Amino acid sequence: MAEREGSEPVRAACAPVRRVTARVNVAAIERNCTRLRTELRGGAALCAVVKADGYGHGAVQSARAAIDGGASWLAVASAREVSELREAGLRDVPVLVMGALSMAELEEARAADADVVVWSERDVEQLAAAGGGRVHVKLDSGMGRLGTRDPAEASRVAAAAMAAPGVELAGVMTHFATADDLEDDGFFAHQLAAFTSWARGVKEQQPGLLIHAANSAAMLREAEAQFDMVRCGVAIYGMDPFGKNPGARALEPALELSSYVAEVKRCEVGESAGYGRQFVAERDTWLGVLPIGYGDGWRRGLSNNADVLIGGRRYPLVGTVSMDNITVDIGDEAHERVRCERAILIGFQGGERITAEEVARRLDTINYEITCGLTARVPRTYHRDGVLLAQLVGP
Ligand SMILES: *Cc1c(COP(=O)(O)O)cnc(C)c1O
Repeated sequence: MAEREGSEPVRAACAPVRRVTARVNVAAIERNCTRLRTELRGGAALCAVVKADGYGHGAVQSARAAIDGGASWLAVASAREVSELREAGLRDVPVLVMGALSMAELEEARAADADVVVWSERDVEQLAAAGGGRVHVKLDSGMGRLGTRDPAEASRVAAAAMAAPGVELAGVMTHFATADDLEDDGFFAHQLAAFTSWARGVKEQQPGLLIHAANSAAMLREAEAQFDMVRCGVAIYGMDPFGKNPGARALEPALELSSYVAEVKRCEVGESAGYGRQFVAERDTWLGVLPIGYGDGWRRGLSNNADVLIGGRRYPLVGTVSMDNITVDIGDEAHERVRCERAILIGFQGGERITAEEVARRLDTINYEITCGLTARVPRTYHRDGVLLAQLVGP
């Protein structure tokens, strides 16, 4: 260790921990899929939704784990996302692109041999002109987003798809607006009824057709919504679609977000930490500085509004979340022990745990946004119940 003249010895940097890591347990994703499949009635297929880079978990690794857990379809939102899966070698599994597609994106989706969603006769004509492909007709039964609200038009689109050269009518679908709200005012049942009567009619003409409607919440709350396939995203990652405790539904969070205590410093009464002095010590204490911030997706709304686990104990995040750092109030007793310690921001440590649901509640948002919001600066590492697989993304 070098020694500066007339000053304290230069302290060694902490052992080689990354500043921030998102560790994803692929075995958890696999088990969540297996677990979800036990809820399926009548042989419905599981389609694993891996859009937005697998809700921040990594699309390719998540897709592989879901397939190992029994998913037989994948779904994404964009053409680029399906290309990524194909380029990574996921060639044989059917992939549905659920989002709206520009002409160029439609070409990309076709090149990737994806199924696409249509809801107008023009969509079908365009696809036929581009050389054809498999389509799923979307009825907007109440989401008010993609799809046609008119069942008669949806039926015409389905007929056009059956007639158009090179086009194959592979499925009919809808999407629920309130499936995650168990106290909804009957709107879920209303959507389900509207879709069921239309979809069954189309299937009479095309018996091989896949009817699908349910997201994670819908498949868990209502077996009647499962039809031939369910499209599960959030639950395969072990997050609760109802925003509650995932463990209560035997779902296992797959992602752990960690950092470490890079610095410990004294903070005397009246001294502050962070931009805007949003924390001023009311007693002498010690602060731990963790190199994670909103640049990593640890959002600024967590300023004075989150806990962190260090050595199996909860400590409050104090002061403002900066782009690259946060500060934690360590108190008086443990400060000597925490320097260089790992810190868990989402995950388990000792008997304590912090879920994405807890973080979401503090930010008045949903668990989806927490994991999706982890930025590209956060390296994802993959393990199978502790056995390291590969580091795929990031520095
Ligand atoms: C994202 C998405 C899903 C998956 O929803 P979860 O709530 O994550 O299970 C299903 N269907 C469509 C159309 C979606 O956009």
